[in-house]
Amino acid sequence: MSLSAFSLSTTLNHLKQQDLYRSRRVIDSPQGIELILNGKKVLNFCSNDYLGLANHPNVIAAFKQAVDKYGVGSGAAHLICGHSTAHHALEEELAAFTGRDRALLFSTGYMANMGVISALLDKNDLVLEDKLNHASLLDGGLLSGAIFKRYLHADSENLQAKISQSTAKKTLIVSDGVFSMDGDLAPLAELIAVANNSQAGLMIDDAHGLGVLGKTGGGVVEHFSCSQNDAPILVGTLGKAFGTAGAFVAGSEELIEILIQKSRTYIYTTAMPAAIAEATRASLQLIIAEDWRREKLTALVKQFRAGAAQLGLVLMDSDTPIQPLLIGESQQAMLLSQKLLELGCLVSAIRPPTVPQGKARLRVTFSANHQASDVDFLLSALEKVAK
Ligand SMILES: *Cc1c(COP(=O)(O)O)cnc(C)c1O
Repeated sequence: MSLSAFSLSTTLNHLKQQDLYRSRRVIDSPQGIELILNGKKVLNFCSNDYLGLANHPNVIAAFKQAVDKYGVGSGAAHLICGHSTAHHALEEELAAFTGRDRALLFSTGYMANMGVISALLDKNDLVLEDKLNHASLLDGGLLSGAIFKRYLHADSENLQAKISQSTAKKTLIVSDGVFSMDGDLAPLAELIAVANNSQAGLMIDDAHGLGVLGKTGGGVVEHFSCSQNDAPILVGTLGKAFGTAGAFVAGSEELIEILIQKSRTYIYTTAMPAAIAEATRASLQLIIAEDWRREKLTALVKQFRAGAAQLGLVLMDSDTPIQPLLIGESQQAMLLSQKLLELGCLVSAIRPPTVPQGKARLRVTFSANHQASDVDFLLSALEKVAK
């Protein structure tokens, strides 16, 4: 028993006893509002495919054509021989889309966040993160070796107080644009004011806002009209509203060049397949052209919130397609998720440590492909299980 010193079974049993054991569901269909799970159709309310592009015919066609042209594997890292015309074109289009000088592709959002913070900071510096930031931002801050502090959620006074106490050489403020488990927005204007006030850098990870918020889907920075000067480091992921995979960082010419030189999660990893870049170019066209997807989401969210209020359900304060129902205890959240599944609705229970202790929730998300009747179906299922 070579792993006996690691007490694996004790740890696993402990997680089970606390209702914190995680297991995967095996899906036997494309992503969409309907999934096939254990041979049965279920309505899906937990995907981040907000615009319904993961299985869009244009995106699929672009992917297939690109596979014929480029093959499957990219063969190497971007700096060796893995950077294709497809990657390059996507970077230029993402820069134009976000109104930034340049953009740089990463293989995942997790890696982008680790790579950016580590490339910019060292142990003489300070990184300040919102308490509810995504795990990849927190891990990026820790990996950088900088002094690591968290400020109270969306609280710019608490942030300013922490900066005022500091004697660090450089300071980076880091926040989600849309908070992934709560659905609320970062107070961007206030964060920008604090950053300007204290000559700190500001990094916004808009994994859940891009494509969804803003007139043209430009995300939280478009929603609040923030230029590259206001929010100089913008991270976006491609696996959510874009419906593909990967991530990018957008910003100034110099920022992107520094990342190419110093970001270890950029340098030491294989480039995403070129076909993923081509598929993402197709989804970017749809994001820009098809306003109806954002309008539809707004209408679905409004319908859901009005219906939930009538049922006396307590939703968190969110206008985005992330509509969590705060439950409290993990066991209760798991039980409700199980009962909803029996009624044909897939809604995931989110438990600690993803969210704070005692704040387990059902994280409901909507897609532009949902219909009003789907929202009604979910509301009636929630009414049944709430009893
Ligand atoms: C999903 C997510 C990430 C990670 O992106 P991946 O491409 O899935 O690795 C980073 N930040 C936030 C806020 C996210 O929600």
